[in-house]
Amino acid sequence: MTVSEQPRPSDFIRDIIDDDIRANKYGGRVHTRFPPEPNGYLHIGHAKSICLNFGIAAQYRGLCNLRFDDTNPTKEEQEYVDSILDSVRWLGFDWEDRLYYASDYFDQMHDYAVQLIKAGGAYVDDLSADEIRDHRGTLTQPGKESPYRNRSVEENLDLFARMRAGEFEDGSRVLRAKIDMASPNLNMRDPVMYRILHADHHRTGSKWCIYPMYDWAHGIEDSIERITHSICTLEFEDHRPLYDWFLEQLGVYHPQQIEFARLNLSYTVMSKRKLLQLVEKGHVSGWDDPRMPTIAGLRRRGYTPSSIRDFCDRIGVAKTDSTINIALLEHCIREDLNRTAPRAMAVLNPLRVVIDNYPDSETEELDAINNPEDQGAGTRKVPFSRVLYIERDDFRENPPSRFFRLAPGREVRLRYAFLITCVGVKKDESTGEVVELHCTYDPATRGGDTPDGRKVKGTIHWVSADHAVQAEVRLYDRLFTVENPGDVEDGCESVLNTDSLEIVTGHVEPSLANAAPGTSYQFERLGYFCADLKDSSPERPVFNRTVALRDSWAKIEKRL
Ligand code: ATP
Ligand code: MG
Repeated sequence: MTVSEQPRPSDFIRDIIDDDIRANKYGGRVHTRFPPEPNGYLHIGHAKSICLNFGIAAQYRGLCNLRFDDTNPTKEEQEYVDSILDSVRWLGFDWEDRLYYASDYFDQMHDYAVQLIKAGGAYVDDLSADEIRDHRGTLTQPGKESPYRNRSVEENLDLFARMRAGEFEDGSRVLRAKIDMASPNLNMRDPVMYRILHADHHRTGSKWCIYPMYDWAHGIEDSIERITHSICTLEFEDHRPLYDWFLEQLGVYHPQQIEFARLNLSYTVMSKRKLLQLVEKGHVSGWDDPRMPTIAGLRRRGYTPSSIRDFCDRIGVAKTDSTINIALLEHCIREDLNRTAPRAMAVLNPLRVVIDNYPDSETEELDAINNPEDQGAGTRKVPFSRVLYIERDDFRENPPSRFFRLAPGREVRLRYAFLITCVGVKKDESTGEVVELHCTYDPATRGGDTPDGRKVKGTIHWVSADHAVQAEVRLYDRLFTVENPGDVEDGCESVLNTDSLEIVTGHVEPSLANAAPGTSYQFERLGYFCADLKDSSPERPVFNRTVALRDSWAKIEKRL
């Protein structure tokens, strides 16, 4: 199914758009944009915004622009631009020829600022940042007007030109909108439009030493691109009057800003500042560490674009903030991979098993089903021989009741192979640890059938010791130990899960030796695993655990 064919539930934003189309507002056009600031990698929260903006455009046969909101030179880098392009494309969305940069509009923004100064709507203020803050007032107290507020238009034009020409130091002056210092909305108390910053920009180089503030810049960007619906997150609701004020004062094309609740996910932080900290302090291996909630991290972890789009559809769009249970995201990838991922056998915590009555020199190839959910996926051959590995957990010397796997004297089925019976247990004399099992197999049960109809409750997976390939297996767990790490007072570092990565040597069936990086498998009975995009090679396969098999969301859903 292509993105545009997926069923779309209605929501309050689509209701607004339906009304606008009926009223022929914007001539019935729908034109959205996704406007990331290139100061970090995109995360799953951005995916919600991407799916919403590109999804709406596809649904209404409109357009969606990709626009870098690159108005802050000090935090922005080309690496981030590249990763953002890559992530949006990977998620399955296409901006066609509509890739824009806010910095391409710097000249236009400057000219609009001059226009606003001429109309008496903006002034150069010499107060420092601290003084401006002090003058701003509070929610209960009106602000105080700056002594520079009533400068003449000529003086403002002159000072603004000199700001631009580089005559003044960083922070010594700003350009402010002249609105209302007593407004109950603090955003309307003469907000700053331009600041002086002698810093090189990743695209405009040293051309500018004044840079526009977000609120001033964003509406102009939307207006220039003739966006119809400018969809942003809830914290900008109080900024909407300012968005509208600027565009009205300039008398230019005026899109409609609509706010929705940002995505919060349990056990996850979503602020780029906090994610950057994790990277810089080495708590993770990089922005694309498989534990990160970034698109690049999720991708390396083994998430698929369709599972992320499915997740975004399911959480929907609302007007009030909430936290989504990460189990839902995990449920979405399980559902997807259950349908699509080939099965394979891998033993992560091996216990040696010798089949006493199997000839020493022999190997036979058994048929294994690639995906019971997908008949078209066919079968593959799995080698069987005298010495095998099984999972240590699948054997108990003294099995509790309801343990149906292997134990002394017990018979179990080896998946796709034979029934075996445990006839002997070899232990390390000094530690008492079980080091090897001796078993016999029943040749009449090839393929796991019981011709005599005898009941065997347990089925376990296995690999042939001589044929198995060793692989590094990275077992990932949640990065944080608490549900809301973003709320922790002294920062999320104190609640990092120190066991979020365990590395083991797995023995995987030989067909996995050439697993292409990025390919997902279900390791039978263990979970979904994905050959690491960066580190896996035929010489040294590396698998990341995407998610274990047990689905806690299915249980939660039942209770709902
Ligand atoms: P952060 O707070 O993590 O730095 P941001 O909002 O500053 O994020 P931008 O690059 O400005 O990051 O975001 C680009 C777009 O993605 C914006 O329209 C923003 O509203 C949206 N967005 C960011 N975070 C989320 C989120 N958690 N849920 C939904 N949309 C989001
Ligand atoms: Mg932002």
